[in-house]
Amino acid sequence: MDLGRIRSETPGCRDVVHLNNAGSALPPAVVHDTVVRHLELEGRIGGYEAADDAADALTASYGALARLVGARDDEIAFTENATRAWDMAFHAIPFKEGDRILTTTSEYASNALGYLLAARRHGAVVEVVPDDDHGGIDLDALARMLDAGGVRLVAINHVPTHDGLVNPVAEVGRLSRRAGALFLVDACQSVGQLVVDVAEIGCDMLSATGRKFLRGPRGTGFLYVRREVTAELEPPFVDLRSADWTGPESYELRPDARRFENWERFVAGQLGLAAAASYALHLGMEAIEERATALADRLRAELAELPGVTVHDRGARKSAIVTFTHVTVAAPEIVARLAAGPRRINARVAEQTYRYDAGVKPPLRVRLSPHYYNTEEELDLAIAELRAILR
Ligand SMILES: *Cc1c(COP(=O)(O)O)cnc(C)c1O
Repeated sequence: MDLGRIRSETPGCRDVVHLNNAGSALPPAVVHDTVVRHLELEGRIGGYEAADDAADALTASYGALARLVGARDDEIAFTENATRAWDMAFHAIPFKEGDRILTTTSEYASNALGYLLAARRHGAVVEVVPDDDHGGIDLDALARMLDAGGVRLVAINHVPTHDGLVNPVAEVGRLSRRAGALFLVDACQSVGQLVVDVAEIGCDMLSATGRKFLRGPRGTGFLYVRREVTAELEPPFVDLRSADWTGPESYELRPDARRFENWERFVAGQLGLAAAASYALHLGMEAIEERATALADRLRAELAELPGVTVHDRGARKSAIVTFTHVTVAAPEIVARLAAGPRRINARVAEQTYRYDAGVKPPLRVRLSPHYYNTEEELDLAIAELRAILR
């Protein structure tokens, strides 16, 4: 990896030490320029006319996102964010009274709320699979719960937002398929950080966001739906993008994943998202994963050496998300002081309102999430600052 070049292509690197890639990463210049250029074109010639000009690039954007996750173009829907992508897939599942939904302890709050809605609306039953000894989903327990029958859906995160663990999604995919359950993966934190391949994972649906490790624009996301299951999923909303009005009392849904989209969209954002995907593909997801993971490992090891610091990341396999607490200085203060230091260091508080894994760890933790474009020197600087703050 040519780090000098990558950093020169990331203007934000000059101003901040950005360790908040799990929140919203610094975009490469090509993403910024793609969005701004399209907005300028809209201003100059009109929004519809600019979209007409960009028609080929918009078509190609599906190809870039598909390549990023090993899907086919017609299995991708562009969305406003990951939550809406996930919603469109989840609420399209025709749940019946008593259908079981299996999830994991580290599940994202919005997804958990969706399960509760399905429980209220359809009488679905939500069950949380226990953790294994490392804190990831317990595969033996999952297999037993699947064997008991009646599981309509297994839905888990690949990488949680508030913990450095990586869930064994490919194993979960194999078990789910064997049991005839649908498998929905929340890949919000893994797309752009780790190699994500929908065939290897064996999922039916997968949601992702633009702004996190993928380094795309805010207000963008996408959904993958496997071609073979699209026909059994009726989106919770339909509009003239997702369906054709074929008669006074009939409509026909699009056959492809675009049935989960709506018509009006952030066109500049869609182009910027595709630019982010192409940029990541150009660097190579294996190389990105290797470097991001190595930087996080290094950070965890150095944090563990600081007096009074506890690192909280679980999981047999770890991601580029690092969480810790200090014995006396509260997480919000640590984050504020990192930002106020001589070089602005961006960290974040991992907050916990209610979660299935509440009580496993302190409710407020500092989250540091490096990415491949960070340097070892930046990590050393963060550690030196922390040493001073926590003295
Ligand atoms: C950020 C996040 C989401 C939500 O993504 P949005 O793009 O904000 O909708 C969902 N799941 C996980 C694990 C996340 O970290």
